[in-house]
Amino acid sequence: MCLSSPQQLVGVVGLEVHAQINSNTKLFSSSPARFSAPPNSLVSFFDASLPGTLPVLNKQCVEAAVMTGLALNCTINKKSLFDRKHYFYADLPAGYQITQQRRPIAVDGVLSYSLLGGKTRNQVIRKRVHIKQIQLEQDSGKSLHDDARSQTLIDLNRAGVGLMELVMEPDMSCGEEAAAAVRELQLILQALGTCQGNMSEGQLRVDANVSVHRPGEPLGVRTEVKNINSARYLARAIDYEIQRQIEVLQNGGTVHNETRAYDSKSGETIPMRDKEGLQDYRFMPEPNLPPLIVYEDDASLPTGIDACQTVVVQKIKEALPELPGVKRDRLVQTYGILPEHSFTLLNEDGLVEYFEALLKATKKEPRKVIGWVTNDLLGHLKRHDMSVKTSRNALLNTQQRTLILSNKFIQAH
Ligand code: ADP
Ligand code: MG
Repeated sequence: MCLSSPQQLVGVVGLEVHAQINSNTKLFSSSPARFSAPPNSLVSFFDASLPGTLPVLNKQCVEAAVMTGLALNCTINKKSLFDRKHYFYADLPAGYQITQQRRPIAVDGVLSYSLLGGKTRNQVIRKRVHIKQIQLEQDSGKSLHDDARSQTLIDLNRAGVGLMELVMEPDMSCGEEAAAAVRELQLILQALGTCQGNMSEGQLRVDANVSVHRPGEPLGVRTEVKNINSARYLARAIDYEIQRQIEVLQNGGTVHNETRAYDSKSGETIPMRDKEGLQDYRFMPEPNLPPLIVYEDDASLPTGIDACQTVVVQKIKEALPELPGVKRDRLVQTYGILPEHSFTLLNEDGLVEYFEALLKATKKEPRKVIGWVTNDLLGHLKRHDMSVKTSRNALLNTQQRTLILSNKFIQAH
C-alpha cells in the first residue's frame, strides 16, 4: 500500500513507456512490422542504414500517435519535429535513433485510472497521472546473446518499427499505483488498436523512475529501473526500490542517479550503469525529414492538399472508440452492476461482449448474469487455464457462443 505521514520518507514514481505501434509497416520504411519472422527477414536497405537511403514517414503511425494523444487528453502539436539521438550500439546500425526531442507530436495530457481499495477491495479510488509528452521514434534491432559460443547476433527485424514514447510526470507514489496506471494505459491502447500492449512480448516496455522524499520537500535523486516485463513485476520492482532508497537514506547514505535492472527471481533491483557521467546524445535536427504537420479539420487544409494524404485531427477524434473508463461507467449505469464488476469485465479480453450478448439472449436480470459470469464462468476458465478468447468456444462465432453460454446459464438457474 502507499503510505504517507508528514515525517516519513515516501516514494515518487514517474514512468517512461515505449509502446510499439500497431501498423503494417515500419515508421520510415515499407518493411512489414511483424513480431515473429525469421531473423533479418524484414529488413529494408533503410532499416539496415545503407548509405543513400531515405526515411519516408508512415501515415498510419502518425495517426496512431494522434489517436493515442487524443485518448489521453493531450494537446496535439500541429507542427512537430524529428531529431537524431546518437549512441553507439550494435543493434542501432545508423548510430542514431530518429526521435522527437525538441517538439513531440502530443503534449500535456492526463491518464485517469482507478485502484480498488478498502478492506474488501471493492472501493473504487480514482487517480490521475499527467502525461508530459508522446513522441514518435524508431525501435532498435535486437541483440541475441549466444552464451554457448560466446557471441552476440543481431536481428534487425525490429529496427525501425514505430514506437510511441509516453513520458509521465512523477505523480505516483508506489508500485500499486504504477501498475494500475499501466494496466489502464494497456486497455486504452488495446481499445484504440494503436498498440497490442503485451508487456511480456515487449510491445509495451515500462521504465520506472523512482525516488523518495519527505512530503513538502523537493524531490529526491531518482534511479531508473529497467527490465520489467509485467505489471506485477513493475509493482514489485518499484516497491523494492522505494524501500531500498529509504534504507540507504536512513543509514546515512546517498542515493545515486543510476540505471538499475529488476531481477524477477530475487525480487531485487541491481545496478546496471552509472548515469552520473551524463551521456551526450549529440541531438541534432533530422535533415532528411521535414516538420510533421497535422491539420485540425478539413477547413484548415491548405488548397491543393488532399485530405487523404495528410492527417486530420478532427477525423481521428470522430473515430475514437468507447474508452475503458467510459465503458465501465456505462456498464454500471445501464445494468446496475457493482463498479468492481465493471473492472472484472474489462480486465478480460472479450468478456464485456460475452456479458452483453448473454443478457440479450437470456433476458435475465443483469445482476444475476454478472454473478454467473464473474463466479461460474471465470472460475471455470481459470480452472482450465483458458481465457475467454482462447476458450474452446473461440472457434465459434459470437452467436453460437452466446447460445451455448445462455443454455449453460439457464441450466444453472
Ligand atoms: P530526462 O530528460 O533525464 O529523461 P525527465 O525530466 O524527462 O528526465 O524525466 C524522465 C522521467 O523521470 C519522467 O517519467 C519523470 O516523471 C521521471 N522523474 C523525474 N524526476 C523524478 C523524481 N525525482 N522521482 C521520480 N521520477 C522522476
Ligand atoms: Mg528520458
